[in-house]
Amino acid sequence: MSPQQTVRILQNSRVPALGLGTWQLSGRAAEDSVAAALDIGYRHIDTAQIYENEAEVGRGLRAGGTPRESIFLTTKVWMSQVAPDRVRPSVEESLRKLQTEYVDLLLIHWPVKDVPLEATLAELFRLQHEGKTRHVGVSNFPIALLEAALKHGPIFNNQVERHPYLAQTRLTHFCQAHGVLLTAYSPLARGKVSDDPVLTEIGAQYGKTAAQVALRWFLEQDGVAVIPKAAKRAHLEANFNIFDFSLSAEDMTRIAALDRGQRLIHPGWAPAWD
Ligand code: NAP
Repeated sequence: MSPQQTVRILQNSRVPALGLGTWQLSGRAAEDSVAAALDIGYRHIDTAQIYENEAEVGRGLRAGGTPRESIFLTTKVWMSQVAPDRVRPSVEESLRKLQTEYVDLLLIHWPVKDVPLEATLAELFRLQHEGKTRHVGVSNFPIALLEAALKHGPIFNNQVERHPYLAQTRLTHFCQAHGVLLTAYSPLARGKVSDDPVLTEIGAQYGKTAAQVALRWFLEQDGVAVIPKAAKRAHLEANFNIFDFSLSAEDMTRIAALDRGQRLIHPGWAPAWD
């Protein structure tokens, strides 16, 4: 029997700490990756309206017959859809494409300056009340904006870029202190961690790769989830094979020292980061 997956429990929900990211997976590849991930044992899938793969993700979710209620499914409302009158139709379209009655988590994908946050959140909370999403959260929110969001209601999650080269220590502590799940996106630094000499050396002690060490680093931290993307079956399997070892305090210190504030996702509309 394989070791138990790590699970985070917040607001009475169980979130598998390891999920599958699906950005830049399209068509058959998206469907196949989701289906393969579920077959391997993943029970947490991340998509977004802007990825234009919700229909394929939906097909992948149904392919192997995994019960819907055992999967934690996230989608994100794109920037053009956060105006209060647009939120509902866009979410209803997401649900149709995903072939599901509800998502587990609905995120505001990026903060949008011109639309009052309170108004978007009010719509999302209404959808939550109606059972169309179990939780409401945000993505790419620095501390000040997350603090503002928390004034309007329960924010379950902040999904942000985090990897050994961008440790986001202050934001992580803020989320932990406020019971907000922090989901790390681009956790493999978009593949760059694979040949890191320190991670490789740490992994050698346990028979693991640098990428597996990077993912395990997140599991060692309270209240953190991680959503690596993988199209290749070998990568999907390797990334799931991280529940049978743990990192020592010394390993954790060495990984913390890799932080160099290296941000990979910084579009023109990005907020002022922490
Ligand atoms: P990532 O997960 O850091 O890296 C993905 C890359 O790493 C792919 O090239 C993949 O290759 C490779 N890879 C996967 N497993 C590997 C392994 N075990 N060994 C070596 N290489 C491996 O990058 P990401 O896609 O940017 O981030 C992950 C997810 O976060 C996205 O898919 C998306 O769901 C989410 N995200 C959210 C936002 C946001 O604004 N909220 C922004 C960016 C990303 P193959 O695909 O060839 O297997």
